[in-house]
Amino acid sequence: MKVICEICNEVIADVEPDKLALPFLGWMFKSPDKKHGFDPPFLHDTTWEDMLCGYCGKRPFTERDGFMTDTGYFKFVPPEFKCEVCGKVLSSKIALLRHSRSHLKDAKG
Ligand SMILES: [Zn+2]
Ligand SMILES: [Zn+2]
Repeated sequence: MKVICEICNEVIADVEPDKLALPFLGWMFKSPDKKHGFDPPFLHDTTWEDMLCGYCGKRPFTERDGFMTDTGYFKFVPPEFKCEVCGKVLSSKIALLRHSRSHLKDAKG
């Protein structure tokens, strides 16, 4: 999926939606054209607020959880990790594992 600067409409990066998590960081944004060996648009640990478009020098984004792409505006929806025992929704895989363990403890006790 190509990321497009909302200010100047240039293609600035390439992202894989399933690699994204909030807050967005520099490493999630790859070179827009690997074949020609372009550098990635941001440094590895560049924060969302510090990202600047290499073409117009302005912030290429207006929202904190979305950006313009070649297929329209992309709004990131965080994946949900649902407990199979009680149905509680956790925000990360690690939180779910920790939560599941508390059920095991319940069962033993
Ligand atoms: Zn721009
Ligand atoms: Zn549960």
